[in-house]
Amino acid sequence: MLNADLRCHSTVSDGTLSPEALAERARRNGVELWALTDHDEIGGQQRALEAARVHGMKYLTGTEISVTFAGQTVHIVGLGFDHHNSALVEGLRRTRGGRGERAQEMSDGLAKVGIQGAYEGALKYVGNPELISRTHFARFLVEAGVCKDTPEVFRKYLTEGKPGFVPHRWARLQDAVQWISEAGGIAVIAHPARYGFTPNEEYALFTEFKAHGGRGVEVVTGSHSTQEAARYAETALEFGLAASRGSDFHSPDESHTDLGALPWLPGQLTPVWELLADRIQ
Ligand code: AMP
Ligand code: MN
Ligand code: MN
Repeated sequence: MLNADLRCHSTVSDGTLSPEALAERARRNGVELWALTDHDEIGGQQRALEAARVHGMKYLTGTEISVTFAGQTVHIVGLGFDHHNSALVEGLRRTRGGRGERAQEMSDGLAKVGIQGAYEGALKYVGNPELISRTHFARFLVEAGVCKDTPEVFRKYLTEGKPGFVPHRWARLQDAVQWISEAGGIAVIAHPARYGFTPNEEYALFTEFKAHGGRGVEVVTGSHSTQEAARYAETALEFGLAASRGSDFHSPDESHTDLGALPWLPGQLTPVWELLADRIQ
């Protein structure tokens, strides 16, 4: 099977490596087909495409769009789109729009529990001024000695009900799927096991996603156990969705799963890249 890694993040969103350094690392790890999928941002696509070429790796354009569905945040990966498509570029720009203000509010929340200067602290880790994320706050809180690692920061400070959490309205599911599809790409539900949905809500997510034109689900990913991968392989078959595979690599110091170093897709599934054969560059 092809070693495809179709989800990871660079300094253009919340990763710590440049698109070029990611491409080199992916190739070194044996990746044959790669996609850089920065959160709500495609500003790194041209660089990633060129770097993939330098290393003789096939490339699909990518992004991971933040969506609000049933009151929760869901991530929708886009693959193989035209990264110059104006509706997609504009939709992503609007999706990024509220991040600055949200970050200020997060900082205010943290100040109330005695953590001062978190906004400025997080900014030091930001590579793209339009994309300040919780990950940057997490890095600052580790640096400041508040927590020992980023998962602890999320657990104690950055998830629902915790002092640094600010509820936010992201893109609509329908819009995210349409931006990707109308730009010639395929929309994929990212890391489905990570959402805290009830079975009914999850069924609604897959049903609506499919009705809006979504065509794939990430089955094998850094944060899925073997059992979770098997479960979403079944979901893919049930809903007639193609399957994707992506490490979710963010940083050599933080990520448990390195680029390309993850299990193969279970048999019987249609890999998303088979639907995207004419979009591979
Ligand atoms: P944001 O888009 O600002 O809400 O940040 C979301 C990002 O935070 C995700 O893309 C992950 O990189 C990171 N993240 C979310 N939950 C956790 C967690 N429990 N531990 C570590 N990182 C997390
Ligand atoms: Mn991330
Ligand atoms: Mn995600």
